[in-house]
Amino acid sequence: MLTSTVALLRAAGEGGYAVGAFNIYNLEGVRAVVAAAEAEHSPAMLQLLPTALKHGGPPLVALCLVAARAAAVPIGVHLDHSASADDIRAALAAGLAPIMADGSHLPYADNVAFTHQMVTMVHEQGGTVEAELGRLTGTEDGLTIPEYEARLTDPDQAADFVGQTRIDALAVCIGNVHGRYHGEPRLDFERLNAIRKAVSVPLVLHGASGLPEAMVRRAIELGVCKFNVNTEVRAAFVGALRQGFGAPKPPDLLELMQGAVVAMQLVVSAKLHLFGSAGKG
Ligand SMILES: [Zn+2]
Repeated sequence: MLTSTVALLRAAGEGGYAVGAFNIYNLEGVRAVVAAAEAEHSPAMLQLLPTALKHGGPPLVALCLVAARAAAVPIGVHLDHSASADDIRAALAAGLAPIMADGSHLPYADNVAFTHQMVTMVHEQGGTVEAELGRLTGTEDGLTIPEYEARLTDPDQAADFVGQTRIDALAVCIGNVHGRYHGEPRLDFERLNAIRKAVSVPLVLHGASGLPEAMVRRAIELGVCKFNVNTEVRAAFVGALRQGFGAPKPPDLLELMQGAVVAMQLVVSAKLHLFGSAGKG
């Protein structure tokens, strides 16, 4: 069943688990996430980056919404990292109301102004807004943020930001990165605890690909209700295609696609268990 981000995050917060939000780009991605969620009796979220929205347009949004409505478990559909009002308007027009307005590249005052504007627009349409404070390093869909540009979320500023913008969820930067971690991930849990005490909205952690179980558990204990996962699911898709093309006989198209769905589904299922949401759908 199609379920709002707010309802998913509230249930996660109360239930002591987190919802996995998986970036998808096509039918195979949608099928992998929904099939994994149904098999694990878990809630989950389908997430579209603006690049995916440009690639698939309203038909891809419609696909996500139809799949979510038909699912036997709660499924959210969410727009990820949107730095432009035009992208957010396009998403709203396509029927996608829960969005992430990302002004984290802007100076603080401009981030506040941009985010508040987007919150006003999205709330009018009955949607909700996740925003980010601080700046994440790493690479996602061709956008690379070098380490010297990274900033961790300041707890006092987070309280001011949430109060001024009226956002519904806050994405934190506590040492998490987009893409692959170079060496052991190191998360600043003291900072996360201080942010948790400073704000009342649910917290989101991007860059969950490669986080060990103990860190995931600790993050959930300290208020993280949503983890974003992209890299590992994409790698499973590409790996399955590569394997198919490497076979001695030329692959059948549907078999190839089905192989990719199964490969992605395995990754998603493992994450649903890791986030503690299996059995909660
Ligand atoms: Zn992200």
